[in-house]
Amino acid sequence: MKKRFHCPNCKTVLNPNVKIVLTVKHGKKLGMILMSPQPGNYRCLKDDNFVYEEGKMVTFMCPACNESITSKSNNRLAHLIMSREGHRDSTVEFSRIIGEHATFIIDGKDVTGYGEDSDNYEANVRNFFGS
Ligand SMILES: [Zn+2]
Repeated sequence: MKKRFHCPNCKTVLNPNVKIVLTVKHGKKLGMILMSPQPGNYRCLKDDNFVYEEGKMVTFMCPACNESITSKSNNRLAHLIMSREGHRDSTVEFSRIIGEHATFIIDGKDVTGYGEDSDNYEANVRNFFGS
């Protein structure tokens, strides 16, 4: 079943095909990034001229409305809305730190973590979403 990822601000679908397209800001530099819709798959595509270092925090932004999608639960995470036909919407949260593998899918009060660094955030995300 196709998953659609939406901007939390303007609700635009950010994966018109398969990959999720986001604007990424590192210092004053801007780039476009394509991310996998599979939680726990951290391979992403970007322009080779857009260089960022492991361990640096970037800001993910919606390419449609240009708003930051930084999470309200934790400043180190970004968030998107995930919709599937026949399901209620869930929230996807993922790390803003390059090279840090932490993703959460929040479905109501159920929080599922992916990636080897998700333990660093799990308690925080669970507290915020009240499970
Ligand atoms: Zn938007």
